[in-house]
Formats: sequence, structure tokens, C-alpha cells
Amino acid sequence: MRAPGGPRLLLRRLREVMAEPVTAQARLDRIVVLIASNMVAEVCSLYVARADGPLELYATEGLNREAVHLTTMRPGEGLVGLIAATAEPLALSDAQNHPAFSYKPETGEEIYQSFLGVPVLRSGATLGVLVVQNRARRTYSEEEMEALQTTAMLLAEMIASGELQSIGGQGAAIALRSAVTLAGQPIAEGLGLGRVVLHQPRVAVGKIVADDVAFELDRLEKAIDAMRASVDALIDRSDDGRSGEHRDVLEAFRMIAHDRGWLRRLREAVTSGLTAEAAVERVQNDARARLQRQTDPYLRDRLHDLTDIANRLLHQLAGQSLVLQPTELPENAILVARSMSPAALLDYDRSRLRGVALEEAGASSHIAIVARALGIPAVSDIPNISEIVEQGDAIIVDGQTGEVQLRPPPDVEASYAEKARLRARRQDQYRALRDTPSVTLDGVPIGLHMNAGLLIDMPHLEETGAPSIGLFRTELQFMLAPRFLRLEAQAALYRSVLEAAGERTVTFRTLDIGGDKMLPYMKDLDEENPALGWRAIRIGLDRPVFLRLQLRALLRAAIGRDLKVMTPMVSTVGEFVAAREMLDMEVDFARRCGRDLPRSIAFGAMVEVPSLLWQIDEIARVADFLSVGSNDLMQYLFAADRVNKRVAGRFDALSTSFLRPLKTIADAGLRHSTPVTLCGEIGGRPLEAMALIALGYRQFSMAATAIGPVKAMVLSLDAGEAKRELDALLADSDPTQSLREPLQAMAERLAVRL
Ligand code: PEP
Ligand code: MG
Repeated sequence: MRAPGGPRLLLRRLREVMAEPVTAQARLDRIVVLIASNMVAEVCSLYVARADGPLELYATEGLNREAVHLTTMRPGEGLVGLIAATAEPLALSDAQNHPAFSYKPETGEEIYQSFLGVPVLRSGATLGVLVVQNRARRTYSEEEMEALQTTAMLLAEMIASGELQSIGGQGAAIALRSAVTLAGQPIAEGLGLGRVVLHQPRVAVGKIVADDVAFELDRLEKAIDAMRASVDALIDRSDDGRSGEHRDVLEAFRMIAHDRGWLRRLREAVTSGLTAEAAVERVQNDARARLQRQTDPYLRDRLHDLTDIANRLLHQLAGQSLVLQPTELPENAILVARSMSPAALLDYDRSRLRGVALEEAGASSHIAIVARALGIPAVSDIPNISEIVEQGDAIIVDGQTGEVQLRPPPDVEASYAEKARLRARRQDQYRALRDTPSVTLDGVPIGLHMNAGLLIDMPHLEETGAPSIGLFRTELQFMLAPRFLRLEAQAALYRSVLEAAGERTVTFRTLDIGGDKMLPYMKDLDEENPALGWRAIRIGLDRPVFLRLQLRALLRAAIGRDLKVMTPMVSTVGEFVAAREMLDMEVDFARRCGRDLPRSIAFGAMVEVPSLLWQIDEIARVADFLSVGSNDLMQYLFAADRVNKRVAGRFDALSTSFLRPLKTIADAGLRHSTPVTLCGEIGGRPLEAMALIALGYRQFSMAATAIGPVKAMVLSLDAGEAKRELDALLADSDPTQSLREPLQAMAERLAVRL
């Protein structure tokens, strides 16, 4: 049976109703009457999903009107609940014999045999269910189902506009505005409260019904052509690494952009009376419903690709740029995106950014490096966040726990705001210590230096009052660049770092690539055990051109200044000596070329491979200084991958079995008068730093944010007393046990501020 007047007429009528100046309830009542009559159905009902879970009957033609705002269905309950749970339409000629059928006496619905229901969808969320029913048994046509789905889109816009917010039965908010707690992975610490800003803003499909179908078809064709051309251009750019997108993803985009089935569905949707934008949204809603239930990760990825390409098409139609212009950023912005390149994050105005929430952070998480350097809390791996949020939603990003609170209720928001205030107060207190010398109660100076890796880290030197950069991770800049940095680019970068450091020294670490720090253009280095593979100094010695180029660039950048360089992942003294010979060759080369040299050159070794513990005297003798990389030392000593969450937290840095080798290194430094710094994460944690001072460490390099808390600890510590207590603990303790608890107790006894 065909609907009289067809879907186009219905849509036109609905549009008129939408524009009428009546109350939301009156409008809904008119809409259900119109749909019922157009589809020759005795019943038409709209259920809206409420924030507290159930679907509430908001309007009906044909069922008992008294039931409006009283009848509710839980998701999964009855046919309506089934449609909401599956996000799929359902057409039945014998509804009462369907296993999910549930009888609600107040609606008087038992006399209706046929049932057609569709979900009301918007951006992947089910906002409600729209139903028509007939007394007689009948089979609904494809066309009728389509018409009802299109009508549901209009209702989705109405629900999303907030118009229905005030008319719900028990005053419960509708689901679209409900509070949601999402769990992700913290990638940059801090706490951010603000408003959602979509990095790729969605195009609001304002107009759903077409005035002129031929015109809309023409717009659609032109937009498809333009979108295809833009994808092709991206693929061309990906060849030279400029697009920021992975080529496989782009190829998938190209496939979808030429997919006949997809294009046919788009054209059909326009022919049925939709605008080109509404057609894209409509076809996307269907695809989402189909693909969202897939458990196969490959197919779910295709949904992402399909969403991306539909989004591109919508932007093309609206004539808007795909990503937000960084200059358009509002205050208190929390950027939400499926993924984002580090360069894109750097483009935004830092002073307006409060946080970043992503679905995926991407390989080795370069965005995390940038977010940390900028001091912006960030969380990744949040399933579906870019689809769930609405522009301007209130949102909280917790970079400690990885939790994201979307549209938080007032009490949750208040408690986070309090947490943020406390944090800010503590930060202020730490800032107040900026110029206080870092000396223990018994007069032992403790050097608290700063770790850095990007130019954007450098302003933190001033803010923290750190006396120097104790570790500059040169590879970070390489990880962000599309290709290997040549001599001049490297020299310019190091020069800028030195200039930004002013009088303070900078300890540059030569490239530490491989393992958890892959370069985008080295991906094909497919190793079974990358952490134990060809990395850092091993690459430098096997491909001297890289190491020599870097040393040459450093020598040029530091002309007339003190140059400190160290090399990572040294496993044997021989490796260190070979690297030093390369430095000597570069110095000779510079001399022969008549170039000026740095005022002084110090060449150090990182102690982070356990084999050096048994060559510790030899390395302390030949190196100008030692720097303990406790992150890697811990990983290799316990054979526990530092980035594998299953094992990374299994061993404690405060166990005797780790403190003993750390003491071995500090003692060797003393014996040979070779300065020792510790630059791993543990130095930035007050309790661990206290133990390290007790072991004999006097120099640390740490993240800028850690300097304040560690300095507060240092100022309250008696280093001599701590040493006596720790010596006793080490002598007495069971070597298999962690000393965390006794050290905590000791800190309390000695009133050390942690
Ligand atoms: C370390 O290993 O402790 C270290 C400081 O270097 P990275 O974390 O860069 O490996
Ligand atoms: Mg390391």
C-alpha cells in the first residue's frame, strides 16, 4: 500500500507544522496526526529517550491520550525498547505474537495488529522511537519505512534543539542532555573543565526537506566531485608526508567516495524529498546502525571511515572548512576529536585550551608529547566521544584517572571544580618556591633540573626556576617532523633551544629512536622485540652518518657556549668510546674547516641498560658525567615493558632490588668524581626522590610540573637523617619486598612534606 501523497507531501506538511508558533506539545500532537493520516495508520506515537533510561510516550494519535507522559518503556522492553536497543527499524504484520511484545493496558494498544517502528537517530545516538500501527494485518512497504525514517530525522532535530526539554512527564531530562561518565587513557596530566569544541565541527543539517529536488541532486553531485578531488589531493600529499593522515586510511576514504551502493543511497534519499545535507545524514544514520553492532574491529574501523567521509561531504555542501579555524576557539575550550595531529594542536591558542579528549591518540602518541609540553590535560581512547558530544556541552577531562565527565550534574561539576581549585592553589604554592634555593634542612644543595624535548617546553625553565635542562630529548622533534631533519634544520633547532635557555646549560641527548619512540618514516623497521632491538646509540654506531650529523649540528649550534651531550642506551663501555671518537672526529673536522667551537664540551653516558652496572667503574672513568635513565633501567632490570600496562605497574621502584643498583651508580660517581644526575620519572615523585637523596643522589632532572612538589619535599628533609634511616632499612629488609611503606612511615616520622 502506498502512502497517499507520498513522503514528499508529508515532509512539506511537516515543515509547515515545524514553523507554526505553537507550544512544543501542540506541535508534537499535530505531527503525529499528520504522520498517521499520511501513512493511513490508525496510530502514530513518539517515544523520547529520557536521561534516566526509559523511553517516555511524548505524543500519540490513536492510543489513549491519557497515557502520554505516563507510559514508559525500558530500553529492551517491548517492541519500542527493542528498536531503541538495536537502533534498527522493525516492521511486523502480527505484532502481538512477536516475542518482545509487551502489553501496556493504559494505552489500549492490544487491538492493533501491524506495527512499524523506527529509531529517532542523531549522530549515532538513539533519541527516541517513532511508531505507526494499524488495526488490520498488513505489510508495510520499503517506501513507508523510508518515509517514517525521514520523518524521524525531523523529530531528531526537534529533540536536539531542546524544545521538548520542559514537557517531559516526571521532569526527567531527555537523554540527549544526560550526564555521561566515559573512561579513557590519561595521556597528559591535569584537570580541565570547560566546553566541548569539536576539532572537526559537525555541520548542522538545518533544512531537511528539499524545495527543489533537481537542484539538490545537482548540489549533491557537485559536492561528491569536490570531495573526491580533496581526497585525491590528500593521497598525493601523503606520499611526501604532508597530509598528516595515514595512507591506508586515505585509500579507504577513496574507496568509500567511489562506492556505488553508497552513492546510490544518497541519490535515492535526495529523490525522496530530502536536501542533500539531510540525505547524507540519513544514509549515515543507517550505516551507523548497521555497523555499530559489529564486533569485528575491521568493520568498526570502516564505520569511522564512513563517518569521516560523510563529514567531508557535509562540509563540502555547507562550504565550511573541515577543521575548526584555530582563531575561532572560544574560551575554556576542551577539544574533542576522533584523532588529531600534534601540529593541529599546536595551532590552537594555548591560553584558551583547557583540555583534549580523543578517541585515539595514534602511534606512540605524539599528541601526548605535545599536550604534556603545553601543560594541557589530555585523555585518549574514549570510545565514540566525538559522536556523543554536542558542541558547547559542559565537559571535564581528568588527566590523572582518564575519566571524562560529559554534561556533569551540578554536584559532580562542583566537586571537580573544587579539585581544580585545590590543584591551582598547590601550583601557586609551588610557584612561590620558584626562587627559593633547593637545599635540605641540613644544608645539602639538591639540583632540580628540567626535562624538555620541544621548543614549547622552554618557557617552563623561567616558570620553574630550574637551573638547567638536564635532559633534552632530541628525538621528539624528529618524531613530529615528516622526514629526517637535515644538518641546517637541526643546527637551527638546537640554536633556538640554547637561546631560549639563556645562561643555563642544556644537556642534549643524541637521538633515542626505536623501541617506544618510533619515527613515522621508520615504521617498516618491523622488529620482534623493538625495545631490545636496533635503537638509540646502536643505530648511531651502525649508521654513523646520523650520529655524526647530529653531533656536527650540536657543535655548530653551541659555538662559544658550553655544550653538554649524552648518549642513550649504552650497553658497553666500548659503545660509549666509539661514540666519543665520532665526536672527536667532528671536532677535528670543524677545526679543519676553520669553524669556531663550543667553549667547553662534556660528553656523558646514560646509565639505563643493566649491563653497565657491571662496568660502572669503567664507564664512570671515561664519561664526563653519567645520567641515570631510571625508566629504561627499571624496564630492563625487571624485564617489564614500560608501555605495557599489564606489566608496567608490577614492580616497585622502591624495592630493595632496584634501590641497590641505583646506589651502586651513585657510589661509583662519588668514587670517580664523575657527576651523576637521575633523569627518569621516579626523580619527579617526592617519596622516590626522598629515597634517592638518602641513597646519595644530588642532581635530578624531571618534568617541569614535578619540580615544585619535589622542591617542597627537599626543603622539609634532613638528608643525613634520611640516609641513616634508609641505610638501616636496606640492611634489615627482605630484598624481595618493597620499601614503600617503611619509607612512607619514615617520611611521616621525619615530617617530610610529600
Ligand atoms: C629514562 O629511560 O629514564 C629516560 C629518562 O629516558 P626516556 O624516558 O626518554 O627513555
Ligand atoms: Mg631511556
